[in-house]
Amino acid sequence: MARGAGPAGGAGPADCGSLVAGLGELILPRRCAGCGLAGHVLCDACRTRLATPPRRVFPPTPPHAPVFALGPYADAHRSVVLAMKEHNNRIVRRHVGAVLAAALEYLEVRGEIPHGAVLVPAPTRPSSARARGGDPVAAVCRASGRAVVEVLELSERAADQADLDAAARRANLAGAVRISGVPAKQCIVIDDVVTTGATLTASVEMLLAHGADVAACVAICEA
Ligand SMILES: [Zn+2]
Repeated sequence: MARGAGPAGGAGPADCGSLVAGLGELILPRRCAGCGLAGHVLCDACRTRLATPPRRVFPPTPPHAPVFALGPYADAHRSVVLAMKEHNNRIVRRHVGAVLAAALEYLEVRGEIPHGAVLVPAPTRPSSARARGGDPVAAVCRASGRAVVEVLELSERAADQADLDAAARRANLAGAVRISGVPAKQCIVIDDVVTTGATLTASVEMLLAHGADVAACVAICEA
């Protein structure tokens, strides 16, 4: 079953948790996910910062397809990713989705990526996704309005990558990416942060091994 396709039926305990978190977001005072300014989900200045054109980046582990990043792992780009991942800010996801949509359009117009490719969220561990009320990257992809196929998943035994170097990341991911389907069209792998490129490489290799046509990778930030 594709990741994100939940079981049919009524609300379970996880859904109740999401509901409570969702209500909290409506009630609690808002601060800009980019700079902390009170009263905004995302202030105008941060929206402008996030709207800078994406650029080609060259991670040390190159994933057999061009990689683009919307910005550096700094300032508004970094804060927005941390808000989604570490602070469980769900309401900002749809704004980041709009930022991603604009970046994809920019790359399409310039001929850097094909028009209308489907988005494949980079894999995450199911337990991490559950803890965050669903995978933020997948949510951003859906919020972009593009077709999304959630076919990649990380094995629970894959360690957190944060403290690993490039070689350790590759070893950690070897055999840890699972695939549950193959996109019928050209696809673009989307991730929040590209650091060594190990996750994107493992993702692209898994897709290619199953006959997918991977056109590019796009990350919100380059670290
Ligand atoms: Zn701001």
